[in-house]
Amino acid sequence: MKVLNLMESVVSEVLDVQMNHLQMNCTCEQCKNDVLAIALNALPTRYVSSTRGQTIQRAKLMDEQTLADVLREISKAAAIVSNKPSHT
Ligand SMILES: [Zn+2]
Repeated sequence: MKVLNLMESVVSEVLDVQMNHLQMNCTCEQCKNDVLAIALNALPTRYVSSTRGQTIQRAKLMDEQTLADVLREISKAAAIVSNKPSHT
């Protein structure tokens, strides 16, 4: 049985939508993944094990407060990565 961190897909989706607004110096795959990793480390994990569970958990996750937290952590992470990319 596979489990997945639902927060991961939510952060990934939000990052895709917000990428153009974050005004990062570099938007390559690595910088994007760095932003993802930093934001995810700052956010609570939400493990789910089934498709059904995923739907229910997802609905709970996407409340306004959670979305605000996700956006805030993505902005913070984007600023960090933009100022200091992990590549040259
Ligand atoms: Zn980059």
